[in-house]
Amino acid sequence: MPDTGNPTSFSKKRLTLIAGPCSAESGEQVLAVAEFFSRYNASGPRLPVDVFRAGVWKPRTRPGSFEGMGEPALAWLADVKKTYHFPLATEVANVKHVESCLKYGIDQFWIGARTTGNPFLMEEISRALQGCSHPVWIKNPISPDLPLWLGAVERVAKYVRGPVGAVHRGFGMYNSMPYRNTPLWEIVVELKQKHPDIPLLCDPSHMGGKREFLRELAQSGLDLEMDGLMLEVHPFPDRALSDASQQLDFGQFESLVDGLVFRNADCSSTKINGIRHILDDVDDSLVRLLAHRMQLVKELGQLKKEGNISVLQFGRWNEVVRRVTELAKGQGLDEEFIRRILNCIHSEAIRLQKDILRES
Ligand code: PEP
Ligand code: MN
Repeated sequence: MPDTGNPTSFSKKRLTLIAGPCSAESGEQVLAVAEFFSRYNASGPRLPVDVFRAGVWKPRTRPGSFEGMGEPALAWLADVKKTYHFPLATEVANVKHVESCLKYGIDQFWIGARTTGNPFLMEEISRALQGCSHPVWIKNPISPDLPLWLGAVERVAKYVRGPVGAVHRGFGMYNSMPYRNTPLWEIVVELKQKHPDIPLLCDPSHMGGKREFLRELAQSGLDLEMDGLMLEVHPFPDRALSDASQQLDFGQFESLVDGLVFRNADCSSTKINGIRHILDDVDDSLVRLLAHRMQLVKELGQLKKEGNISVLQFGRWNEVVRRVTELAKGQGLDEEFIRRILNCIHSEAIRLQKDILRES
């Protein structure tokens, strides 16, 4: 595959914004969005649009839905670049897509959530991108599987010369209410802890599914020190051929970006450091208390074994939950939060005691 050059280098120094319609629907539609972005950027916003996004092939849940305009849409995107000079990004899901995009001068690629989870496809696409210096963005797989996500990043990075980033778009759970996809921010925190160098964008559009959730999700992404956003913008979102309820019109886009709070990542203040020291001490105490609790659980397990008593006693556990929840509520803790912690502690206690009962 020839290297078409024209890389758009990615900078971790300032936030990146990739925006545009979910799908390229017509030449007029993409030009209208690009014209708006160009006016918006000229107004000196705090977060200018860096890259114009539009889907050309759409992976749809059900056959018969709008599946994207295909290759003709690449020519419309090439027009956007010629007229408004935005670098272009689109989704590629197979080798043919990559080849067509390179022919039409697409500058950046993203791998969709449904593709990231397929190592065979990822390998083929990565090989097709061999030697390219185009940035490639890997959306998280549908399932909350960090190693699978990182594996896809690693696979692409093995072949391309340009930067490889990750896009957090939420995870498809059985019940993601109120969002379309559950954020599971803890997965992102783990990714950042393990690989602080991987550029990481937040995609509130696909996470929220409804435009009213986008601002809070975008803000959460920035609060976790993500490196930027991917947002869907359409001239008339309600008439969009895909993802109508989550796309922003021009005014909504401007007011969302305007309302974002860019927090200071500098954490050198003595007051903050002081509180963090105390938090560290509290965490240490929590671990010691948990270890003590589990030691008692094991002793109890031994006694249950000797007395041939069953591991689970619902009456006793219900009483513990009732008493501790009351205490926690009195301390201003959230009831659901304390219940989740108790369940987690209880599962571990049962696991330990079952092991003891199984020992001969
Ligand atoms: C998209 O960005 O338009 C898209 C289809 O995203 P995802 O793969 O996250 O569903
Ligand atoms: Mn979309």
